[in-house]
Amino acid sequence: MAEETIFSKIIRQEIPTPLLYQDDLVTAFRDISPQADTHILIIPNKLIPTVNDVQESDELALGRMITVAKKLAADEGIAEDGYRLIMNCNSHGGQEVYHIHMHLVGGQPLGRMLSIK
Ligand code: 5GP
Repeated sequence: MAEETIFSKIIRQEIPTPLLYQDDLVTAFRDISPQADTHILIIPNKLIPTVNDVQESDELALGRMITVAKKLAADEGIAEDGYRLIMNCNSHGGQEVYHIHMHLVGGQPLGRMLSIK
């Protein structure tokens, strides 16, 4: 059984965080430490620790994350200029919170995709 993270408490609003979107499958809210002018996290309501743990039965929620990203990008006024969707996995991916999440970042030019090379 995977251990809950702070994101489960945000989903249940036990830690009050303004939600930008919530339905039966996904929840979205602003990152506490934004890395760009717009930085939103979109997460499945179900606790899935890493992308390695995703199952076929999660496909509806994972697809919903993308359609919600599209909607929020439009709401934020960044759709036309563009943005980046990021999912980090495990230590090499830089994952810090073990409840999968999609970062929606934009609102400014984001430069090269990776900074390692
Ligand atoms: P990761 O590195 O796991 O892909 O990203 C985790 C993200 O969650 C980080 O960008 C971090 O700033 C964000 N984060 C961690 N704790 C909280 C929190 O309590 N509230 C919010 N809104 N964001 C958080």
